[in-house]
Amino acid sequence: MERCHGKTKAGARCKRTASAGSDFCAIHADQAKAAAAGAGPKGNGKSASAAQERDPLDTIIAATALGVVVFAALTLRRLFRFL
Ligand SMILES: [Zn+2]
Repeated sequence: MERCHGKTKAGARCKRTASAGSDFCAIHADQAKAAAAGAGPKGNGKSASAAQERDPLDTIIAATALGVVVFAALTLRRLFRFL
């Protein structure tokens, strides 16, 4: 039997024997699920989180660019009124 790949709360390697057909013991079965979830849709999860990180920045850049355009337009409008 293989040794459990799980980690104890202290962060040490689990010394229990892994369950049959699993790399983890019964106590660390939840870690096996977490490892499987992390290994499975890794690319999707990564791109989704990257998109979530990028979205607010894009909004700020777009808002800033719009603000600059509006400010320039208003400034030009005032200048042309005085001319
Ligand atoms: Zn374990």
